[in-house]
Amino acid sequence: MTSVSLKNHRTSASTRAAVRRTALSLAQLVATLLCCAISGSVVAAPRAQLTPGGIAILPLGDFDSRPSVTYGDKRVLTVQHEDGWHAYVGIALSAKQGAHSVRVNGGDVQFTVNGKTYLEQRLTITNTRKVDPLEQDLERIRSERTRKANARLHWSDELLGFDFIRPVTGPKSSSYGLRRILNGQPRNPHSGMDIAAPTGTPILAPAAGRVIEVGDFFFSGNMVYIDHGQGLISLYAHMSKMDVAVGDTVDQGQKLGEVGETGRVTGPHLHWSVGLNGNWIDPALFLDAP
Ligand SMILES: [Zn+2]
Repeated sequence: MTSVSLKNHRTSASTRAAVRRTALSLAQLVATLLCCAISGSVVAAPRAQLTPGGIAILPLGDFDSRPSVTYGDKRVLTVQHEDGWHAYVGIALSAKQGAHSVRVNGGDVQFTVNGKTYLEQRLTITNTRKVDPLEQDLERIRSERTRKANARLHWSDELLGFDFIRPVTGPKSSSYGLRRILNGQPRNPHSGMDIAAPTGTPILAPAAGRVIEVGDFFFSGNMVYIDHGQGLISLYAHMSKMDVAVGDTVDQGQKLGEVGETGRVTGPHLHWSVGLNGNWIDPALFLDAP
């Protein structure tokens, strides 16, 4: 399989880098590792996980043209594989356990959502205004909420990118779904994955798409939204620098900007969210298996 040979390539590249380590300065070593990690990135198709925050991958069979699939009142991403059409349904973090169904050309296809317990995370934010906004911040926060909802719910028919690479090289510093307590107060659960990396680290488009929203947001700092098509949306927050504008098309691996610590943060990192049919789901499901 392609993914296996890519993994082997990545391992051997890391080994070669380690052998040369003594001959390299620290800066050279970092540059070498970044280069190998990016060029050896594993391209991964999304994996199924039938839990809140997961993805249901439903085989639909053969159709002459793309079937119409809806989940609740939202359209659902469909892809034609060799063995027929498949629906990729994003399951909300708030979804109830039990039977769920999608409408497929007027009929029902059922799937079961199992339980999953997400851990609690307590964080201390030194900029307390980002936890308890001032009266004068509230109007800005409200208008940004509308822009964010519009971007999350954006739909375009053409699927531009589907198989992802990692957007940033670095360790995962916070997982999707954590129940968050900020400065002792419960807040919304974590809607994405955090990847720790120094300010200035390049952020790469994990798949091709079109830029649909760019801006400086109160909580998210500098943020870019990419529409990959068919309701597949990804966002990049807390950036120090943004290199794209609304309307730009991006290729897989194209630089979107740089890691930073703008907005509500405890330090520099990329916050990365991935959405399907309007639900933020676990971005780890779009990377190669752990
Ligand atoms: Zn985050």
